[in-house]
Order: sequence, then C-alpha cells, then structure tokens
Amino acid sequence: MITKLTKKTIALIIILVTGLSITAFIPAGEIIDNASSHFHKEMLEDAKLAATLTGASDDFEVPEYQQEPSVEINDNVPEFDDELLTTDSYEAYGPLDRHGRCTRVIANISVDTQPGATEERGDISSVHPSGWVSGEGWERCHLIGWQLTGENANSRNLVTGTHYMNVSGMLPYENQLRCYIEDTGNHVVYEVTPVFEGKNKVCAGVQMQAESVEDNGMGVSFNVFCFNVSPGNEINYKTGEITTTNQELNAENEFSRVYILNTNTWKFHYPSCTRVAQMAEHNKYKVTKSRGELIDSGYSPCGNCSP
Ligand SMILES: [Zn+2]
Repeated sequence: MITKLTKKTIALIIILVTGLSITAFIPAGEIIDNASSHFHKEMLEDAKLAATLTGASDDFEVPEYQQEPSVEINDNVPEFDDELLTTDSYEAYGPLDRHGRCTRVIANISVDTQPGATEERGDISSVHPSGWVSGEGWERCHLIGWQLTGENANSRNLVTGTHYMNVSGMLPYENQLRCYIEDTGNHVVYEVTPVFEGKNKVCAGVQMQAESVEDNGMGVSFNVFCFNVSPGNEINYKTGEITTTNQELNAENEFSRVYILNTNTWKFHYPSCTRVAQMAEHNKYKVTKSRGELIDSGYSPCGNCSP
C-alpha cells in the first residue's frame, strides 16, 4: 500500500528560483497530491525566496526572555502581504541554510492540510536537526505542528527545541489553529520562522504568525516569539549542550515528566500515544523521569509518539 505520505513525498514540486516572483509561487495551483486531498506542497529551493514570502524581518532581534514562554511581536499583529491571504491550501518549506539549519515554513492551513483522522504520527527519529545532541533532553520540534499538516520526518520542518518551547510556547497556538480550522472550515495563513543568532546551531526561539482568511483575522490573529529556553537549565546555543543549573526548577518545568513505560517491550511513550491505549494493563508503568534517565536504564523511545 502506498501511504498518503509517500505520495506526498514523491510528488514534491521543485521550483526554479531564477526569476520566480512571489506571485508566481502562490497560486501556481498545481495539485501535486492525490485526489483525496486538496492542497499542494512545495519545497522551496532558495532561502531568499522563503525569506521574501512575508514581510518578516531578517534582522529580527530576539526579545529578552522574561520568564514567560512567549512574547508578542509587533503588538501581536501579523505582517502578511495581502496577496498571501487566499483560500488556496498549501505548504511551503524553506531549504536548510548553509549551516544546515531550518529557514522558514509558510502554509495556508485548512482541514485539507490536516492529517487524516486515522493517520498516525510517523517516526521522526531519523532527523537530527542542527544542534541536536542525543541524551540532552532535546525534542524535535515541528515548525508547523503535526496536527496541522501531518508532516513527519521532514528535515525542513524540525528544529532542536526544548520541551518548554514545544509545549508551553508553541502548543497553545497550534491548538488554537487546529480548533479554529476544524470549527469553521476556514483557512489560516501561518508562518513559523526559527531565529538563529550568528552561527548558532540551536535557535533562540521561533516566531509564529497567523491570520485567518475568510473572516479577515477575526478568528485567529497573532504574531509571537516563543523562547527556546528551559527553566533551570543553561543552553549552549552554539553546541546544543545543556547544563542544569537549578535542579528544582528543572524538575518542575522541563525534562522530568510523565511517561508511560511498556515493561514488556522496553519502550517509553507520551501518555497520549495511541499505543498506550493498546497496551496490556500489566505492562504499563507510569513514571516521572527525564528522557535521559529512561534511556540510561535501558528504555528506548517509541517510534510512534517519538518522546
Ligand atoms: Zn508511543
């Protein structure tokens, strides 16, 4: 059986950069997926093109972290050009830069871009985003969340990030988008840009902007920066190494959290994983530990939920 994902992957459009204008890109209108879904997906070949898709600034200045997972940018007003605010569903992934880092992802999300109801998350452990250091407690953070576009091991859509950024920073906005498109059937233009300082391998955070189309931003409208930090830990953004500086704060916030162990297969899962529901009760064991501790004691991460 050819999965939807495989078809998507096969069907990537490589666009030629020379002379290509933004307007040529947006409504190019080629449906590259199969008939069951109505959107197209493009792998952009030029970082400059990706950068010009919106008005977002390339010399973005990272705001100061003030103990909150995210902060508003531009008074929370997104900066999309009007011509982007269409009802054509698409996803466009900017290329990795010369340091192997993600650049920018922009999409017009709708129920068309969402994964199917029965689609399961794929294994993303093959992707090692820039700055990834195994055993440090990093997470592979989707720039555009799986629940919105169903992307799995797409290296242009995964950055090395903290659980704090993923769950406290980004997830509330992703959930807002998901609820909105499911409730209304409307479209939302959505862009996520990781911000790297200098040649750092790990991003300082991600800028997320979104604006709903059919109701001119009445339903969804935000422009925020989520910090790639971890309370109680010091991050070396050049190398991806993490040093715990405050055990108590660390335990409260970050790397120590609830996992479900399968004592039969020696896998560990997020509690929300579909495989947890299928697991025999007598093999289930709930722990509050760090990922590193579990791996050290012989457990390996589930390929489905990728904890
Ligand atoms: Zn799992």
